[in-house]
Amino acid sequence: MSKFTAKPTPPKKPVEPESSEDEAEEDFEGSDKEEQNTGGKPPDEAPKKTFADLGVIESLCEACTNLGFKHPTPIQEQSIPLALEGRDIIGLAETGSGKTAAFVIPMLMALMEKPQSLFGLVLAPTRELAYQISQQVEALGSLINVKCAVLVGGMDMVAQAIALGKKPHIVVATPGRLLDHLENTKGFSLRYLKYLVMDEADRLLDLDFGPILDKILKVLPREGRHTYLFSATMSSKVESLQRASLHNPLRVSISTSSHQTVASLLQKYIFVPYKHKDLYLIHLLNDNIGHSVIIFTRTVNETQRIAILLRTLGFGAIPLHGQLSQSARLGALSKFKSGSRDILVATDVAARGLDIPSVDLVINIDLPPDSKTYVHRVGRTARAGKSGKAASFVTQYDVEIWLRIENALGKQIDEEVIPKDEAMVLMERVSEAQRVAVREMKDIHEARGRKGGMMRGRKGNRGRDDMDREEG
Ligand code: AMP
Repeated sequence: MSKFTAKPTPPKKPVEPESSEDEAEEDFEGSDKEEQNTGGKPPDEAPKKTFADLGVIESLCEACTNLGFKHPTPIQEQSIPLALEGRDIIGLAETGSGKTAAFVIPMLMALMEKPQSLFGLVLAPTRELAYQISQQVEALGSLINVKCAVLVGGMDMVAQAIALGKKPHIVVATPGRLLDHLENTKGFSLRYLKYLVMDEADRLLDLDFGPILDKILKVLPREGRHTYLFSATMSSKVESLQRASLHNPLRVSISTSSHQTVASLLQKYIFVPYKHKDLYLIHLLNDNIGHSVIIFTRTVNETQRIAILLRTLGFGAIPLHGQLSQSARLGALSKFKSGSRDILVATDVAARGLDIPSVDLVINIDLPPDSKTYVHRVGRTARAGKSGKAASFVTQYDVEIWLRIENALGKQIDEEVIPKDEAMVLMERVSEAQRVAVREMKDIHEARGRKGGMMRGRKGNRGRDDMDREEG
């Protein structure tokens, strides 16, 4: 077990865990098992904790109530008391577990005790995640007037510099843009920083942010600084990062393995002939009218084509992928969040960390390349105790990869059968919509070709500013 794991004060819990060498993790496995036994809900007789029970002050408890957080989630229940004891934390929690509030609440409590500008820094790998975190900081800190600035690529540096000039308490940033400001924005320094959070830490490292992170860490104070590192999985890279920046941290985890999916998630696979994927998709969507759905595809092209196909057939679909401008991506997300569109067609750019509430169904029209991505994709549903469904299309070409995913999950997923003749009924309408989509895609490519000619000079020059923007 990790040498960074220390033994926390055992919290009271309704179910005694089995013996294990890692007490912090063991406590979580206890609460996780309890959820699995009861379909995601604790048993009636188990008294649920409140935020006040964890030591959270009144104004923040009130903010939680205002946000509809009645009881802490398992990761919050486990990590908040330890953080309030002043410990550094490595939180291993799946997406949708409530991990943002788990690190924001202790940071805000410390801020209230000793208010100071540039008190906390949260690093996130993508622009969307950074915005989401800042929204939670602002929502949780609304009763205590917390000021938060967001520093991400693709947005105006000057406006961000002005926001920094207003002395925010908390900065939420992607690494490349933060370093740009540290190097170029006059008067901006994080010399007196008290809290550093790295969210989706494995992703920060995946995206080759390593050298940039090293530069940032060098200019942050080490003494008197608390560090929280949150990640869905614990890769060896994360372990090397923790060596660089954490003081004797406690590890808390609500996953029993890196391939954990929540118990309230119903997973199915549908065997689909490759050439009829669109037909089966429309059939499935017709069965789920009124539900919020994310459809994951493998490529930007497919994302656009499917969005056009669905719109042509009258569905409220919106695409989200890495080739959209930043404002288009934010616009797509907010339309989906507000419910004005109920189908988001996305590449894996949307699979990580995005807080998209109450998604009822995730459809993998293209299988993800690996099991880790599968877990992140299906983690878009069944969040924060709600139930949800994930349906994966497996074609004659995908059997091997599907078996690999099942193997990594450690269980067989049930098949959902869509009778072929039921799907075929839609053939005529879908074929017509496919023709429309092909035509529109051709127009998009032609327009892109014209633009590409003008932008040729920039090719191959992936600056810092682009690093927080994922491909695909
Ligand atoms: P996160 O894992 O931080 O992205 O959070 C996932 C979702 O759960 C977000 O929409 C949060 O607003 C919500 N959430 C966080 N904590 C709680 C809680 N204690 N009770 C209910 N919902 C929560």
